[in-house]
Amino acid sequence: MNCDFLTDTPGKLYKLAGRQVRTEGTKIDLGVARVGGDEFVVMAGPCAIESEEQLLATARFVHSHGAKVLRGGAFKPRTSPFSFQGLEEEGLKLLRKARQETGIPVVTEVMDTRQVELVHEYADILQVGSRSMQNFPLLKEVGKCRKPVLFKRGMAASIDEYLLAAEYILNGGNEQVILCERGIRTFETSTRNTLDLNAIPMLKRLSHLPVLIDPSHGTGYSWMVPAMARAAVAVGADGLLVEVHYKPDEALCDGVQSLSLDMFADLMQDLSRIAPAVERYIDLPVSV
Ligand code: PEP
Ligand code: MN
Repeated sequence: MNCDFLTDTPGKLYKLAGRQVRTEGTKIDLGVARVGGDEFVVMAGPCAIESEEQLLATARFVHSHGAKVLRGGAFKPRTSPFSFQGLEEEGLKLLRKARQETGIPVVTEVMDTRQVELVHEYADILQVGSRSMQNFPLLKEVGKCRKPVLFKRGMAASIDEYLLAAEYILNGGNEQVILCERGIRTFETSTRNTLDLNAIPMLKRLSHLPVLIDPSHGTGYSWMVPAMARAAVAVGADGLLVEVHYKPDEALCDGVQSLSLDMFADLMQDLSRIAPAVERYIDLPVSV
């Protein structure tokens, strides 16, 4: 295959994740939407699942305002062992309930090889978090699954390390990998992380895999999220992973960066106006 178009790009070719393997770009079918096509796919919900009321209220709202996937952590990778660690299997059951009620597919993190089977039972998309990006045994395990994997970039990982890690999942035979830029560590301390918008065109050039942006972890502040979400559409990302909470001030995890329901509704309106300018669309329910 002629790969001349890659020769002015730094880095090497990637055996499985590389653009030369599939020039068209991978599209991942979620039933309700396809990631990597013309639709800009929004995945939204709380950082952590806290209660039935919290998850269901958020699920109903984001679903009725155009989110195609509900996010929510049941196993949370917290910096301190004394912080809320998640509701674990009880949280997974609540995700199932939210999906049963609204029909929205769900994405949730799996942190440990010993949890893959359990999380796989409940999740439509398995999330591998930033802290696990180079947990190679975990990558091999989710590589054996036949469900999509939302694979977040490590907070201190180069693009090269990231794509090589993605190859671990692909190498297991799981071709449904969705990349996600979630901000990297830099010298800058005014934001939680530095959202690396460069990564989007670079990943799109080097790889055929779809790429999402997570502006919540990428900035750390809800007031910054809409601006960077709008940038995500313009820069060519295939969608968004965004934290939304029905009461951000009371959130047990990442409240400061979580959009309120009203902010989410406004954002979806903005994004749906921007998307056509870059030949994408957002599929908003007619009632909105
Ligand atoms: C999350 O999505 O809630 C999360 C923990 O993200 P990251 O792995 O990017 O820190
Ligand atoms: Mn979070």
